[in-house]
Amino acid sequence: MTEKKKYSFKCAEQNCPDRVCCTRPHVNVTFGDLSRWATQNYLNHILHGITLNLEEAEEKGMTLSTLRKPLSKDTDQTACVFFDEEANACRIRFSRPISCRTFPLEHDGEKFYVTDKECAGIGKGEVTREALREAKQLAEKEYEERVETITALPAVYSVIMGQMLRQSAEAMKNLSDEDRKKLDEIMSKREQEDASKSDDSD
Ligand code: SF4
Repeated sequence: MTEKKKYSFKCAEQNCPDRVCCTRPHVNVTFGDLSRWATQNYLNHILHGITLNLEEAEEKGMTLSTLRKPLSKDTDQTACVFFDEEANACRIRFSRPISCRTFPLEHDGEKFYVTDKECAGIGKGEVTREALREAKQLAEKEYEERVETITALPAVYSVIMGQMLRQSAEAMKNLSDEDRKKLDEIMSKREQEDASKSDDSD
């Protein structure tokens, strides 16, 4: 979308035929989302559905997103874990991530654009000047939170991993001789199992 082109959008909510917002491949989560959920005392209801994406970190940066689940109507397709397929609705509607609240409008630091032209709400309804201003402000905020999260997440991850490694080194130091012997046995058994698995696959 260019800024000159008039943006109109009305979410069809439960009457939406496609729910492309909930089936898009990556539903981004930001530190701002975590902070809002913590403030709302809602974090524990949501955390089980949030994941840290490490596999694609080198290519796209480390991100947080909602987990995925297969759709029962089409098991080749997946959707956000919070999508209630039967009700055709979001189970955390009032606390959904900022990327869902701004969807399908996004900002890339310079311009606004529509992320998914398949969204059934595009071109529907009248968007007042005030509503458009609010939608753009939210898209800008989402962009800022997305960049902040991608920038800071590797450092937060390193701090937590470092802490865990120090704690586990400390725990190893305090092991009794008997526990250390048991642990060595478990580790060597596991190594043997791994070696025999890799022999089988050769
Ligand atoms: S959090 Fe809700 S609105 Fe956002 S993608 Fe998941 S189900 Fe859809």
